[in-house]
Amino acid sequence: MYPISSFSNHQYSQSPPYYRGFAPYDSSDINRTPSRSEQNETVKTLGLAALLQVVASALQKGSSYLSKKLSAGMEFTTPQNVVKVARDMIHSNNLNITAAFIDQSNKNQFIARYGLNKELDTVAKGLNAFYVDKLKLAVAPKSKPSLILHELGHAANTKNVFTKLLQKSRRYAGYAPMALLIANGMFSNKNDGKKSFIERNAGILGFCAFLPTIIEEGLASFKGIKAAKKVLGNASNLKVLKKNYALALGTYILAGIGLGVASKQTVILDGKV
Ligand SMILES: [Zn+2]
Repeated sequence: MYPISSFSNHQYSQSPPYYRGFAPYDSSDINRTPSRSEQNETVKTLGLAALLQVVASALQKGSSYLSKKLSAGMEFTTPQNVVKVARDMIHSNNLNITAAFIDQSNKNQFIARYGLNKELDTVAKGLNAFYVDKLKLAVAPKSKPSLILHELGHAANTKNVFTKLLQKSRRYAGYAPMALLIANGMFSNKNDGKKSFIERNAGILGFCAFLPTIIEEGLASFKGIKAAKKVLGNASNLKVLKKNYALALGTYILAGIGLGVASKQTVILDGKV
């Protein structure tokens, strides 16, 4: 950690590295010149942070590429068949919800009832679909009806304690970088010169915070595909549906990696900038 050769005698006597861990309030710690190895460490940290920034923007590009492919993708069957599968999902999961296809002609009617102006506008444009458990509302674009089966999968997930818990974890996942930063401040001994467990593993820990969301997303799609197979069998092109849902899951996996990157950045930059 501290190669002796990198210390001049002067620096070494002023701030013995082995001593700092035992003397957090030692006055020599205040306003002293950073040692060369500490400077190297800072340069390394900033280099890593810059690299992570490049990764973060690549992830964003990858995600918008997948979203574009998804919105340009074909439908796996006719809208009438999608309605048949949707009815079966609602019935067999005993769902007491409103499910609707949104376009420009009916969006205002839904906005008047539920609010969600921006969200419903995005759906009307064919760019998103969603399920809101509090409102018991599942919507998909009229131009992309098959997305409703995934949203009904989310609704079905609320019927099981475990999958409901996975779904609820989503709202906390975004706090991972901040939570890791706070935990790192509480549990690590910054004066012992060693990287803490959290500093070393912030990336994977941040990703893990998003993992329940990825699993729940995958399960929602799986339920949609299963219902389509049951109701339509070979009358539909399930390969297309699976491909579309894989693209959607891809965006969530990239978002999880993104959260890992953001967590790592937050923790390593703590106190460095
Ligand atoms: Zn989803």
